[in-house]
Amino acid sequence: MTALEARNLGKAYSGGGEVAALAGVDLRIAPGEFVAICGPSGAGKSTLSNLLALLEAPSSGDCIVDGIGTATLTDAERTRLRSASFAFVFQAFHLIEARSAAENVEMGLVYRAVPRKARRQAAVDALDSVGLGGKEDRTVAKLSGGERQRVAIARAVVGLAPVIIADEPSGNLDTANSTVIMDLLSRLNGQGRTLIVVTHDEGVARLAGRRIQLVDGKVVEDSAHQAAHQPGEHRAPKGVTAAESADQVKGRPSRLRFVDLLSDAWLGVRHGGIRAVSLVAAVALACGLGVATIGLSQTARYQVSDVFDAAANRRVALAVPGFDSATPVGRRELAALTSAEAVERLAQLRGVESATLLVNHLEISLSARSSDEPVPVTLHGIRSSSPLEAVFDIDFANGQANSFGGDGVIVGQGLARSLAIGPLAASPSIWIGGRPVAVAGVLTDAGYRTELLNAVIMSEPEASALMPPSYAAVELAVLPGAARQVGGQAAVAWNQTSPRRIEVNVPPDPAAMRAPIEASVRSVLVTLTGVALLLAVMMLVNTTSSAVLQRTPEFGIRRALGARRLHLAGLVVAEAVITGALGGVAGTYLGVLGELAATAARHWTPVLDPLAVALGPPAGVVIGLLAGLLAIRPATRIDPASAVRQ
Ligand code: ADP
Repeated sequence: MTALEARNLGKAYSGGGEVAALAGVDLRIAPGEFVAICGPSGAGKSTLSNLLALLEAPSSGDCIVDGIGTATLTDAERTRLRSASFAFVFQAFHLIEARSAAENVEMGLVYRAVPRKARRQAAVDALDSVGLGGKEDRTVAKLSGGERQRVAIARAVVGLAPVIIADEPSGNLDTANSTVIMDLLSRLNGQGRTLIVVTHDEGVARLAGRRIQLVDGKVVEDSAHQAAHQPGEHRAPKGVTAAESADQVKGRPSRLRFVDLLSDAWLGVRHGGIRAVSLVAAVALACGLGVATIGLSQTARYQVSDVFDAAANRRVALAVPGFDSATPVGRRELAALTSAEAVERLAQLRGVESATLLVNHLEISLSARSSDEPVPVTLHGIRSSSPLEAVFDIDFANGQANSFGGDGVIVGQGLARSLAIGPLAASPSIWIGGRPVAVAGVLTDAGYRTELLNAVIMSEPEASALMPPSYAAVELAVLPGAARQVGGQAAVAWNQTSPRRIEVNVPPDPAAMRAPIEASVRSVLVTLTGVALLLAVMMLVNTTSSAVLQRTPEFGIRRALGARRLHLAGLVVAEAVITGALGGVAGTYLGVLGELAATAARHWTPVLDPLAVALGPPAGVVIGLLAGLLAIRPATRIDPASAVRQ
């Protein structure tokens, strides 16, 4: 049983000068007493009851609980003693509106480390004892004022605390409900609990066995020093506190199981309403932006690479300076370099798509008609690993199967114009050495080999049979990025005996320019991501901190029920981490969707960075953790006494 004693108790509040809310109060309250603390508003009634119940520390004097002086206790020791000795009922109920009646009542046991099942059973029994049987799963917000106060009484009952402090318990209720509440509290006193009621209602005060009258922070009257019930009378009558017989619900005061912390935090997020949704949305926004930006930066990087690949030189040109066709060595070299095998060797090099041999011959004389004066025209012999029309653009004459099979000649567009060669539809011929040769097609685009546009082209070795060659060149079409490597091998592949004779022309590799451009694209996007994350963290910290301030009364009642500062810190962090995890998952999902939408709109190929996707949810957890850690301070600084006054 718990005896209370105030010795020269005083409390002064600072704020616009010292306010002496209570001064020099001496009193003893025996176990089982029913005391009414009365007096006008501002007399110091709440201050006295808060000091007696260890919700705040006195400025002078001491409160003695069962012989233990409390002035020198640490916050944790004070909290443990409070949790073991006191239960509270307030005018403003101080229930968590979004949670069920049973969840609110269970809160009285959560901070006593009572296991879930026993807690639930005790809560159901306690609700039953205050006439709320069957309403345990009803959300508090849906209960009437009288019902809410009965839930608060059930929460006070369930912890089996020997002293109940009720601060204006019927202040917010009509007469009928007020009677029910006072009846319930009187019955609890009847079972042996000490009952201290703060009231300015004379009707309520009359129910008490003792009346302490305060005026201006001083006791002006202390009616009776006689206990309504004697110590040791504590009993549990049937139908009122069935759960009280269960020893296990006493639990260990001011203790919290980790699993209860987590489920409490989860309930906090689940029932957090618009506040929780906006917090999850803030994290989702941050993570979504992060994932989308990293994804888009990768996509953009590949896009840049594609542009460079398209622009990259896909060509390697080879040439031999000239042959001396008069000497056997020159002729042998020429035969070797213009052979089908040489072309095939070049075509077989890694990275080569096609190899085209161009042999420049001496000029031949030709005319469009037999009657025309022949003109000198350069003759080119061609041998390619690919069909010629795949290498150059050719318009084919009627009767040709849109490919050059080596029969007849191909005429360059410029030459066709200057000779006024008949329309291709009429399958024209040209006259070479007094004989007509069919024109298979007109070359319209020869790429870099513009000289071919004013030449006549035959396949090798037919051209060599007609005119001696003067020099040879090779055009290699290569895969993107392969030019340099092909360039290094092509000379040997073409001229196995004296590769040094081969001039290799590899244009500069644009890849060298690609790296710095890619890096700058990436750094811009990474900066953007960083700014997005920073903004989100700031937003979250701000919202979390202001959410804590909004929940001041709730945190106050948790402290009154036995929560230590550490427990509140844990709750804030756990809620923030759960919020962060939910936001992280949602954000990753949205980020991927956003990236897909953005890339689809630009007809780009989306590149999903698996690391960014995998890191999205943990990033949410980290953001939540950060916000939670920063909100710990405001949460743990909440003073339970002023919090429950709100
Ligand atoms: P009652 O419960 O009798 O209405 P209180 O105990 O609430 O009176 O308050 C007593 C005096 O202390 C009042 O003048 C009140 O303004 C002042 N007071 C109470 N709490 C605080 C506080 N946290 N800070 C400053 N003054 C306070």
